[in-house]
Amino acid sequence: MKKYRAPILMLILFETVAITLWLTKGKIFYLFNFSYIGLSVSLGIFLFIRKYKHARRIVQLLVGLYMLVYLGLICHENMQIEGFWYYLFTGVFEAATIHYAVAKIFGPLLFGRGWCGYACWTAMILDFLPYKTPLHPRKKIGWIRYITFAASLIFVAALFLAKVGNIERIMFWAFIIGNVAYYVIGIALAFAFKDNRAFCKYICPITVFLKPMSYFSLSRIQCDKSKCISCGKCKRVCPMNVDVTDNSRKRINGTECILCMECVNTCPKNAL
Ligand code: SF4
Ligand code: SF4
Ligand code: SF4
Repeated sequence: MKKYRAPILMLILFETVAITLWLTKGKIFYLFNFSYIGLSVSLGIFLFIRKYKHARRIVQLLVGLYMLVYLGLICHENMQIEGFWYYLFTGVFEAATIHYAVAKIFGPLLFGRGWCGYACWTAMILDFLPYKTPLHPRKKIGWIRYITFAASLIFVAALFLAKVGNIERIMFWAFIIGNVAYYVIGIALAFAFKDNRAFCKYICPITVFLKPMSYFSLSRIQCDKSKCISCGKCKRVCPMNVDVTDNSRKRINGTECILCMECVNTCPKNAL
């Protein structure tokens, strides 16, 4: 049982959040929502421990499709960054704000960019593309993320300043159009740069939250230097160009690690 401690702890963590929110907010939705996500993530960790090679992809599909189809399309909950700004401006601590607080703002202090590796519905599609390992060196255009971040904030702020009516409806359509745009741009960039995760590296506005918080993450891949033979295989398979053999927090692209475990699975010396 000892080796299954991680999925059990993960399930307990999510159930604690689920029950706390259910009792404090009085909505059974929170119990269902966080129990479902906790079960999906725990199942993924369990499968990973059992060395099932598609474990991460299963979690991505279980959580990503749930959020995109059920929460987004059926429940009309805008879980994109515009939805976060919207609920923040209205002062309502509802699903999108809670989602951002847990998955993208405070959660990364615990589990880094686990969201990006296991739950994001944009990456869920991008990871099906052929360039799982980038074929070219990383480009210095990460500043684009600050423009998309500012654009999302200005868009929602402008709706409030202009006192536009029926913002709820606009938010639903912003969710649809925004997702279509993310997929189109993400797929085009993946093929142009021969890198499935190019969108994550250069465009995604959410990384403005994710990167600084994951810098302090408790969950990190560490390298046992006494075992490492500097073969470089871990860096070659990394989809995010992380120098995982450097244990310092300042390692190259350290805030980009999505905890996908490709490096761990590839290391011939079990040094990671
Ligand atoms: S960087 Fe953005 S698009 Fe990529 S996985 Fe993370 S949240 Fe999703
Ligand atoms: S391959 Fe390793 S260092 Fe790179 S993103 Fe995945 S877990 Fe992180
Ligand atoms: S794959 Fe393993 S042995 Fe090779 S450089 Fe990376 S950590 Fe070291």
